[in-house]
Amino acid sequence: MNLVQYNHLPEGLLERPASSLYKQLDGPTLIHIPGEIETPLFISVLQHGNENTGWEAVRRLLKGYSNAKQLPRSISLLIGNVQAARFNRRRLDEQLDFNRCWPTSKPGEEKSELHKVFREVLEVMRVKKPFAAIDIHNNTGQNPHYAAINRLDNKFFHLAKLFSDTVVYFTIPEGVLSNAFADICPAITLECGLAGDTHGTDHSLAYLELLLRLKALNNTPVKDIGLFHMVATVKVAPGLEIGFNGSQCDLVLPPELDHLNFQEIPSNTTFGSVRKGLSRPLITTDMHGMDVTNRYFRIQANQVLTTRPVMPSMLTVNERVIRQDCLCYLMERMDPTQSSNRRDEPLPEPTGLDAVGVKTI
Ligand SMILES: [Zn+2]
Repeated sequence: MNLVQYNHLPEGLLERPASSLYKQLDGPTLIHIPGEIETPLFISVLQHGNENTGWEAVRRLLKGYSNAKQLPRSISLLIGNVQAARFNRRRLDEQLDFNRCWPTSKPGEEKSELHKVFREVLEVMRVKKPFAAIDIHNNTGQNPHYAAINRLDNKFFHLAKLFSDTVVYFTIPEGVLSNAFADICPAITLECGLAGDTHGTDHSLAYLELLLRLKALNNTPVKDIGLFHMVATVKVAPGLEIGFNGSQCDLVLPPELDHLNFQEIPSNTTFGSVRKGLSRPLITTDMHGMDVTNRYFRIQANQVLTTRPVMPSMLTVNERVIRQDCLCYLMERMDPTQSSNRRDEPLPEPTGLDAVGVKTI
């Protein structure tokens, strides 16, 4: 596998939906399009083949500049997994997950051909000193749009805030694009809701347009963002019957519990009721697998109540998912003014979970 590069937009490419890009591109392709400001904005689309919002936004963006109208700033566009996009899949069975293959090891120690290709992308872009790097994704649940970063740094906060007031800081999983680019320039992963939702395309298009015109990123402290990091996983204790409103089960969950996703909820929010005498219906573990149930939940008058402000994600009322996976993940608020510009972050890190519990990034 080789990285293919172009110094212009290949003719006809913008006419293609993600599912037919494979007819024109063989694999990961890096396209440099000149603009008035030479320093490029790096944009990545289709790291996951079924997440087409980024490509749809870029198509619309570039069509607006097709008649000899110059871009305000150069763009370096990486088009990722066109083979998986053909079949509307995240990746094909025989493929690695593209957004886990950005090299974290030293040059020459890449684990796969794809790691080598992405190393080459990084080295090409390092020379070009990008203004910022934007990796555009979708997710599967009904989550709001949000921005995710891998550095606690003012410029990263500002880059994120221009997209969303909700910012998620993550360090796991390894091998994601935004983390690799964070060594080169301010970098961000955008989560744009469900693929195919035009609101996600409109939002990312407006964001890219704004960045192309922006002269510099602010490096001052940011106060007014909601910065969250992942702290715990919540499971239902093994062997308990789970029911929903009105049923006579060990644990009865409110049927609209999933409406709390990505809501910052105060202490004493109910997660349901329990059969009398049950003291630990939910088991909560931190990123190291330690039991921290008492830090987040208590029982009072047979109600399961939160003990501190948290923001759940992936909350589900699907019993099968609850049993196979978990009830939810918990995030906690961080103060961006206390955490900016720290590169060696001592926070507990998630293990074995995708990024922020939304299983997408
Ligand atoms: Zn993705």
